[in-house]
Amino acid sequence: MKMRKADIDSNSAIAVRDPGAELKRNLDERFKFARHLETPIWIYDVDLKKIVFANQTACRLWQAVDETELYSRDLGIGMSTTVSQRLKQYQSDFVEKGAKFREAWTLYPEGQPISTMVNYSGVRLYDSRMAMQCEVVGETVSVPENVRSTEALLHTDVMISLYENDGAPIYMNPAARKKINSTDQRLKEKFVDQIDFSRLQTNLNSSGEHRMISKMITDSGTRWHDISVKSCLDSVTGKPALLVTEIDVSELKNARDKARYLADSDQLTGCFNRLYLQQHMSMLANIQSERCALLCFDVDRFKQINDCFGHEVGDTVLKEIASRVRNATRRNDVVVRLGGDEFVVVFDDIQDDRVFAETAERLLEIISEPILHDKTRISASVSIGVTIFNPRKADFTELMREADVALYVSKNEGRNRVTFFNEKMGADAKARDAIELELKDSVLNSEFEIYYQPRLDLKVGKALSAEALVRWNHPKRGIVSPAEFIPICEETGLIEELGRMIVKKACDQAIKWRQEGIDLDISVNISPRQFDDPLLMGLLEDISQKTDFPSKRIELEITESALIGSHEVIEEKLKIIAKMGFRIAIDDFGTGYSNLSYISNFPLDCLKIDQSFIAQLPASGPIVGLILTLAGQIGASVVAEGVEDADQLVWLIENGCDQIQGYMVSRPIPAEEFEKLIVSDSYSISKFFDQ
Ligand code: C2E
Ligand code: CA
Ligand code: CA
Repeated sequence: MKMRKADIDSNSAIAVRDPGAELKRNLDERFKFARHLETPIWIYDVDLKKIVFANQTACRLWQAVDETELYSRDLGIGMSTTVSQRLKQYQSDFVEKGAKFREAWTLYPEGQPISTMVNYSGVRLYDSRMAMQCEVVGETVSVPENVRSTEALLHTDVMISLYENDGAPIYMNPAARKKINSTDQRLKEKFVDQIDFSRLQTNLNSSGEHRMISKMITDSGTRWHDISVKSCLDSVTGKPALLVTEIDVSELKNARDKARYLADSDQLTGCFNRLYLQQHMSMLANIQSERCALLCFDVDRFKQINDCFGHEVGDTVLKEIASRVRNATRRNDVVVRLGGDEFVVVFDDIQDDRVFAETAERLLEIISEPILHDKTRISASVSIGVTIFNPRKADFTELMREADVALYVSKNEGRNRVTFFNEKMGADAKARDAIELELKDSVLNSEFEIYYQPRLDLKVGKALSAEALVRWNHPKRGIVSPAEFIPICEETGLIEELGRMIVKKACDQAIKWRQEGIDLDISVNISPRQFDDPLLMGLLEDISQKTDFPSKRIELEITESALIGSHEVIEEKLKIIAKMGFRIAIDDFGTGYSNLSYISNFPLDCLKIDQSFIAQLPASGPIVGLILTLAGQIGASVVAEGVEDADQLVWLIENGCDQIQGYMVSRPIPAEEFEKLIVSDSYSISKFFDQ
């Protein structure tokens, strides 16, 4: 503490009246005992910044002419604000905490510093204000380093304190004293979290020091302190002690926590994100549990929800699902949004697989409760894949793959269900992955060939059209069925490139046959996913511009499921395609969930009745009849698929079906073979009745 004579501020206006003679009498009376003591004692009025009592030795120390001259000195003159604030702090420490402490005071009686060690305590003045009683307990040797280091200790914002080994306080610098709750607060009592304190003790015992960031109880509430504790010896008593250094890092920690929260969480749903999941999985190896579960799910037909209701509704659905899952799981379970509509939940302690299976089923139920957005009720479901694992043996990437394989099975088996991963699933998936890899090469190597299957016109009695069906000419396996590889191409997106290749090949064939005088309509299959292909429309446009393009003689077959969902987008595209001169057929008709009323919105030329209905004729007669009537009303022709026997053929002729296609007429065959048979007029209805 520095108080310079020269530091005079005559304007330091504190609204306290000068105690005057009464105060003097009062103090002189109370401190009569001190007048002749060898120890310098004085009383400093913190508000008036004046000494209001001093014994003779104190007067000498201050190098005053006499008491009156000393009392008349204004010690506030030029006093730095930090010193002034600290003295104010001491004053309130005396009032609120009953503080008594020992600290150095450097006096500057004649401009020359004198370092003293002073005991401070509070003393009430006659008007009950708190003043500071100062009693010199020793003159510190004025070695410059000592003076400076003492000064530094007093001025620093770092809280420095010394505790006895059992935690009783010995010394606190002003910064530390300012923050404590009471002067006799023990070290242990400063910790909010006693686990932190135990950890501190353990480390002190083993290494003699410890540093951590811990939540501390201070006079301004709980704060985060970077606290460092070292075992040492008290330089006064020589007894073992603890030197504690603390810095308030609350602002920094809060900012860092916020940054971490932002880095670890998904903005939309407030769930954890992929980054956090990875960290969490790597920590799992250290937990006690033997069985954990990784559950992954995605929202069934989420794209349709987005397309039909808009992205805002899509967001509401994701948020609601995330919040339901969080509410339905325990605190330790980690709910993660991977991105899009994909989520993962990690359960770190599975006691009983059966009970856990019920938990997973319950999640399905909770999620499928209708979700409200404004006044719209949306029904969303999810497909779930689960893998159970031992955290000490598990590999994160492998676990994600297993859960994903199980999820894929859930989707394939009709969605809205839970599947637990097993080894067989893993093997199947590996085989699929192998095909996928091969497929990529084969698309590049053009290992695909188009077969043609005739469509027999029942009125004319001849084949007037044919369906183009792709085959994979596998170098080792021979001809591979599209039923095996088209779904994989659809999932992986390979269908876009392969699909364009097929469309181009089949259309070129149709044009070539036209040029050669072969009068044949050709139909080509288009997968729903191909409507997302930005290049498809351009390709169709190019084809329609070709000379000899047989307008209205090339038909594109689209499965019914492609029409469900984003009606407007598909409707728009189909209208453009129809305008280019292509015909449009709905494939596998009757198997989807198409709302018959909207079918009339699409520019449809043909309905292809799914083979499952034809196989069940005549039992399925009423349904097939209904489709024939519907087609008549919208002006579309009808093809019966999968016709295999004469009874089916007769039923279809009698009920006015336009065309049939099936093994009864011919299996799909390579183009050259098919061409020969067409040219020789081999496909004739009379064949079936001559027998
Ligand atoms: P799809 O479009 O319904 O094609 C008819 C399927 O039924 C063909 O199988 C055909 O060989 C088979 N089929 C024809 N007549 C009969 C019959 O009398 N009985 C039975 N049991 N089956 C019959 P394929 O060629 O194996 O094609 C399977 C599916 O693969 C197709 O079903 C279609 O969805 C898809 N696909 C085939 N080629 C292509 C293509 O070029 N592009 C796209 N996107 N998908 C294709
Ligand atoms: Ca087809
Ligand atoms: Ca079909």
